[in-house]
Amino acid sequence: MSASTDRSEDLFRRARAVTPGGVNSPVRAFNAVGGDPRFIRSARGAWLTDVDGNEYVDLICSWGPMLLGHAHPEVQATVAEAVSRGTSYGAPTEPEVELAEEIVARTPVDSVRFVSSGTEATMSAIRLARGFTGRDLVVKFAGCYHGHVDALLASAGSGLATLAVPGTPGVPESATALTIVLPYHDREAVTAAFVEHGDRIACLVTEAAPGNMGVVAPEPGFNEFLARTCAEHGALFVSDEVMTGFRASRQGQWGLDGAVEGWRPDLMTFGKVMGGGFPAAAFGGRADVMARLAPEGPVYQAGTLSGNPIATTAGLTTLRLADDGVYEHLTKAGETIKAAATDALAAAGVPHVVQATGTMFSVFFTDSPVRDFADASRQDTAAFAAFFRAMLDRGVYLPPSAYEAWFLSAAHDDRAVQTVLDALPAAARAAAEAVPA
Ligand SMILES: *Cc1c(COP(=O)(O)O)cnc(C)c1O
Repeated sequence: MSASTDRSEDLFRRARAVTPGGVNSPVRAFNAVGGDPRFIRSARGAWLTDVDGNEYVDLICSWGPMLLGHAHPEVQATVAEAVSRGTSYGAPTEPEVELAEEIVARTPVDSVRFVSSGTEATMSAIRLARGFTGRDLVVKFAGCYHGHVDALLASAGSGLATLAVPGTPGVPESATALTIVLPYHDREAVTAAFVEHGDRIACLVTEAAPGNMGVVAPEPGFNEFLARTCAEHGALFVSDEVMTGFRASRQGQWGLDGAVEGWRPDLMTFGKVMGGGFPAAAFGGRADVMARLAPEGPVYQAGTLSGNPIATTAGLTTLRLADDGVYEHLTKAGETIKAAATDALAAAGVPHVVQATGTMFSVFFTDSPVRDFADASRQDTAAFAAFFRAMLDRGVYLPPSAYEAWFLSAAHDDRAVQTVLDALPAAARAAAEAVPA
């Protein structure tokens, strides 16, 4: 039943000759799952079409941004209208103001600064936290991804609360020597780090709900504990909502915990959904902290294409259309797929755990709940790879890694969901037959 992939294979050959690994972001190369990547020609609603004409239900949604589905008519129309007036001016524009107002209205931030990627957002938030506090240390959690910021591409050192080592060649020890990496959910480790280094810690940065090791919902009160610990030590709590923002709920992960419990982060980062499929991201937070940013304050930060009028128009239209009905739809479609994945994997005898926060979910190929990166790392990645390939053969495009959320959109209608349900039993059997790595 294997469809032709000749054109994708040909493009991949050409790509590898001119681009390292043939891709512009590593996970796209399918290294973790085997096989050649599919080159996509177009997308509409919940569906991707590759260059050979094969169609797939998209469960990546551009790694989160396409909350409304691909080629949404209203987003297309406002973007086309904006393009007709020029694409970049290097001067302020109206859509920037409107998008900032929309984000300030939905989240606890007092103001935002736009950048072009989530990486830039966290990098800039950390600079601002250091500039504001006059301190240098940063605390992060293993398994939380904040973009490819040097200081955050760090692994835990030999003991808890010791300073980190680089997570990749090319990052000097001096860049990670000011980073402390702790196990997620480990309150004792957090307390110990702050007891030992509290007066030197500028900020603690965490994914509001980890999504980059698969979805790990913060246990009730954990984010509040982090916010309180930071406050007690005069450090800033930086909540990275690049993935969860405007997706886990209308107000992101904060809508599920901080808004209910009555606390707010000092700084937040956003990206993905707020760019509506264009390169746009943001960081924002407390008025007194944001006031330290140039040109109001002394902390420098800038960007040629920051607040680009096309990107901010796409993001603004997306957020304006992302009403309660959108999140209700994501919840319903997610419940259906989660239940079917559980049934299929259980029937095939494949160990698995389904975890979720708000509308975001993922399936771990392991037999016990995942609370941190060590738990996530116990997955049977060979079983996932076989599962992934079987789903792809049946027209379902999952994230090509066991450590990712499955993303849905408002355009995932009954036909798209049914295609996923139909593919699951055979993919689960393929996973059951996979030879452990
Ligand atoms: C995707 C992501 C980033 C990085 O965003 P880019 O736009 O890829 O640079 C940062 N933090 C989190 C939580 C993310 O999911």
